[in-house]
This record gives sequence, C-alpha cells and structure tokens, in this order.
Amino acid sequence: MKTLIFNMESDIELSEEDEKKLREAGEIIKAGGLVAFPTETVYGLGGDGLNPGSSKKIYAAKGRPSDNPLIIHIYRMEDLYKIASDVPSKALKLAEAFWPGPLTMIFEKKDIVPFETTGGLNTVAVRMPDDDFARGLIKFGGGFIAAPSANLSGKPSPTSATYVLEDMEGRIDAVIDGGKACIGLESTIVDMTVEPPMILRPGFVTAEDLKEVIGDVTQDATLMRCDVNQAPKAPGMKYRHYAPKGELTIVKGENEKVIQYINENINKARNKGEKTGVIATAENIDRYDAHVVKCAGSRLQNKEVASNLYEILREFDDEDVSVIYSEAFDEEGLGQAIMNRLLKAAGHRVVTL
Ligand code: AMP
Ligand code: MG
Repeated sequence: MKTLIFNMESDIELSEEDEKKLREAGEIIKAGGLVAFPTETVYGLGGDGLNPGSSKKIYAAKGRPSDNPLIIHIYRMEDLYKIASDVPSKALKLAEAFWPGPLTMIFEKKDIVPFETTGGLNTVAVRMPDDDFARGLIKFGGGFIAAPSANLSGKPSPTSATYVLEDMEGRIDAVIDGGKACIGLESTIVDMTVEPPMILRPGFVTAEDLKEVIGDVTQDATLMRCDVNQAPKAPGMKYRHYAPKGELTIVKGENEKVIQYINENINKARNKGEKTGVIATAENIDRYDAHVVKCAGSRLQNKEVASNLYEILREFDDEDVSVIYSEAFDEEGLGQAIMNRLLKAAGHRVVTL
C-alpha cells in the first residue's frame, strides 16, 4: 500500500486548500481506511470508530494486542451522547473546563460502539481534541474517529509526521502532516464510571487541575509503581511501552551524586564497547561524558521536557545507542506524566542513590 501524505499549510485559520485535503482524508476514513493525523498531544492513527473492520485494521497496522481499547475522538459535544450511555454531571464540568483538549474520559458505552473498538469492554474512552486539522478530519470522517497513537506497538508515540512514516509507511492509507505535536505526551485518562472519578493515565491535565473542577479524584495505584499486585485499569498501561531499543535506567537522588553515578556507569559501558547516551536537564547538560547527550529541557520547564521526551527516545534509536541513563524529574503536576512515561520506557529500572 502506498501511504499518501497530505502536507498542511494553514497556521491560524484553515485554508480552503487544507480543508479540501481534510475532506479527501475524511473520505478515506469513511471508506474504512486509516489516516494518521496530528493532535495537540501526539499523532493519532485514525479509523472509523463505529466500523469494526476499521478498528481491526488499526490493531493490525500497529501490531497492537486487541484487548487494548481505542479512544474515540469527537469534534462536538452533542456527539458524546451518541456513544456514551451515562454522562455524569462531573463529566460535563470537566468537558466545559478541558474540552477541546488533552483529556480523555471513560463512560459506559452505547450499543452503536463496536466491541472491536473498546477491546471487548462495556465502556468507551472519548476525547475531543483541540487541533484544527484533527477536528476537521473527525468532522469530514463521519464524527467518530478511533485513534491510538500512530506508532508501532511498544515504540514511543510519534510527535511528528516523520516519525509516523518511520513506523507506518506502507501500512496505512495516508498521513496528515501538520507539524510538531506541541504537548508531546498522550492525554490524561479519567474513568468517569466510578465515584470519585479515577485517573488511569496521567497527562497534561494534572490531578490538581481536575480537583479544582470536580473535587476529589483518585488515582490508579499502578501508575508510578511496578510492585503493586494488580493490573492497571487502562489495559494499555500494562504493556511495556514508549521504549527505546537501548537499555534505559533512571537515576534518582541528589544532583551531584546523580551526575557522578551516571558518568561512572557510562564509562564502564563505554569500556565494554557500548554506545552510550544520557537524558539530561539543561542545568546539567555540560556535565556528561557520553557518546550522545540529549537535553530534555530545563528542570523548571516541565512543558519543555514533555514535548521533547519521545523525540529524544526515538533519536537514541536512530543513533543506535545501546545504554542510556536519564536523570529523574520532579513528580509534581505535569512531572507525574513525564515520570510515568519514563518509568515505562525504562521498564521501571530505577537506581535511587
Ligand atoms: P493510546 O491510544 O495509545 O493513547 O492508548 C489508549 C489508552 O487508553 C490505552 O492505555 C487504553 O488501555 C486506554 N483505554 C481506552 N479505552 C479504555 C477503556 N474503555 N477503559 C480503560 N482504558 C481505556
Ligand atoms: Mg500509544
């Protein structure tokens, strides 16, 4: 299959030309095809969420286990009621505050949503993205686009069309190139079928943000730890994910000790013939002596770190780095999402000094 590339040009307002491309891409979705598209979080791999055949194709293109449900993306509020059977008032408050935006909510599903899309569950995950290209594609593609991240299963989510093509060229019908996804980490997922609502995946919308709008929220116990004896409530969170090919270790502790530990271990690995890499904060970037040192951003700028993380993990792959050490990040606010993804990428390999 040849993968079509739609290059988008609009900046603030959607041009007529770009709208034409989105209509064409929407037709592909309606005909049961797959189109990858930008969102404000990461690139999604879209298919018609109400068509079981499309969802099957998504799993096949990604190599994703079929018990890992897909998020349905909508572009207007009224469509939520067509797929969710019970929408609690707290969900309306959250939608008011964070939609369109990087928040996914889980509801009891209506019959119209096929089990192929929900991985066999009676619940459905729904998000309304903010990106104009995404919203146009959803509108012209029938209103309900099922879309996981547009990477091969297990790889870091793509934050640009280039990375989508690296994984998906020849496996999907088209990709919409709309530049870099600005947030860089997947949406926050909140289960609205339980009371109080529960965070199943941390993201750009933080626990504090949610609490300000609806009061108490709880958190899946498995998010930041691997020693909890229960399965994560979002099936996808149980898989090793976001992982680079090299062996990644996170080092926690007092700054000077972390730098010293990483340099010592980088040297050992280098002497064994490994190609070494470090994920460093801007504050420490000049202190490391590895083959490849990547700056995640300033320790004081979580947003910068979030938007760089997946690209850095993929660059290590491009450069065939085999041993990687990363500094740890503060787990406050958005830092929780960053550490959640980093812990998964490292398979929870953490050294605490
Ligand atoms: P991705 O599409 O790669 O962002 O992954 C979607 C995430 O949403 C996965 O971790 C899924 O397990 C989770 N998810 C989707 N639908 C549901 C649902 N109905 N219940 C719980 N988790 C869900
Ligand atoms: Mg994913």
